[in-house]
Amino acid sequence: MPDKQPYDAIVLGVGGIGSAALYQLALRGASVLGIERFDVAHSRGSSHGDTRVIRKAYFEHPDYVPLLERAYQLWQTLDAPQPLFHPCGVLSMGSPKSEIISGIQTAARMHHLPIEVLSPTDIKARYPGLVPHPDHVGLLESDGGYLMVEDAIRFQVKEALRLGARCLTNTRVESWNAKAGHNITVHTSQGTFETAQLIITAGAWAGDFLTHLQSKFKILRKHLHWFGSEDRQMSDLPIFFFALPDGLFYGFPQIDQWGVKVANHAGGESIANPLKISPAPDSNDLATVRSFCAEHLPTLGGQQRHEVCMYTQSPDGHFVVDRHPEYDNVFFTAGLSGHGYKFAPVLGEILAQLALDNKTPHPIDFLSAKRLF
Ligand SMILES: Cc1cc2nc3c(=O)[nH]c(=O)nc-3n(C[C@H](O)[C@H](O)[C@H](O)COP(=O)(O)OP(=O)(O)OC[C@H]3O[C@@H](n4cnc5c(N)ncnc54)[C@H](O)[C@@H]3O)c2cc1C
Repeated sequence: MPDKQPYDAIVLGVGGIGSAALYQLALRGASVLGIERFDVAHSRGSSHGDTRVIRKAYFEHPDYVPLLERAYQLWQTLDAPQPLFHPCGVLSMGSPKSEIISGIQTAARMHHLPIEVLSPTDIKARYPGLVPHPDHVGLLESDGGYLMVEDAIRFQVKEALRLGARCLTNTRVESWNAKAGHNITVHTSQGTFETAQLIITAGAWAGDFLTHLQSKFKILRKHLHWFGSEDRQMSDLPIFFFALPDGLFYGFPQIDQWGVKVANHAGGESIANPLKISPAPDSNDLATVRSFCAEHLPTLGGQQRHEVCMYTQSPDGHFVVDRHPEYDNVFFTAGLSGHGYKFAPVLGEILAQLALDNKTPHPIDFLSAKRLF
């Protein structure tokens, strides 16, 4: 692909979603430039910490399920040297009336997804490392699992470059200008570029480029903790969710020397500037997670690793995937609210379809920005 301007599309922000958009655009033969402020697969945004959960019986809203069906298909097409998707199963535990349990059951019923119901006794027999609450129920989604987040970003960028895309790293987008019916000019720390279509996938920085939405998002500082374990069965765990009064705790099987990764999806400290986020641990968060582990994963040992990451929270916790209200040739994903990564390939496909075909067959009306005004 000749590298000449104007590009068919520029992708602003080559992180979790931008890397997928870059790849999906390159797959369709578009001339595309990705612009990334840091390196590919860095740890300053929202897509690091090794792994992300993928599941289909979506308690957040059943309307996500058709998008997940397509995301699952697309994950299978990414033929990386090491597997990116590990289907170890997802076990969600909570009181029978909790939002998570009833949400999973609703999504599973509406979309005919297989779910196995486990009692606390079944759970203890199958996964001796987990101690469920005696009054809770477990729902096991066998084809759920985890994704290798940085590996998938690197792989999609590498494939996009192989197909002729260009990617500028350590390059900051300063601004963009558009005029109806004209190409868009993107100003960066490495010069100015022209493009027919602009795709904004800037994660926690989305508000800098989507001023109409800036006030809508809250950036949360979130913590990931890894705990060591001598218990070999920790490698055989499924992904686990525990819906408890002091948080929605979740974790991953042990996959390497760092041990079992555990975090609390609830809460988080609101921050003003994502560039100035502190990497320091938070003693309250650690104490809450430790006390959860003591009760529900009692064989875990000391903390081995800690990372900070950002959620970009929308007012209702749902994504915003849309076209810019003033410019027909600007599309974006924003406000992924701490659950967007599993959708990366389908969001990349949607953005590529919108940019190149001006429409997408995927059902995304429920994610439109209109609902926020
Ligand atoms: C702790 C934690 C746990 C999570 N767990 C899960 C999970 O289990 N499952 C799941 O599906 N999701 C999960 N998520 C959410 C998911 O990781 C995010 O929704 C997703 O990765 C966000 O991708 P993104 O592309 O929007 O943001 P990012 O990956 O942060 O990408 C945005 C990119 O834009 C770049 N950028 C910004 N401004 C500029 C600029 N001016 N110039 C150039 N580049 C710029 C940034 O450098 C960055 O690389 C989790 C998130 C966190 C923080």
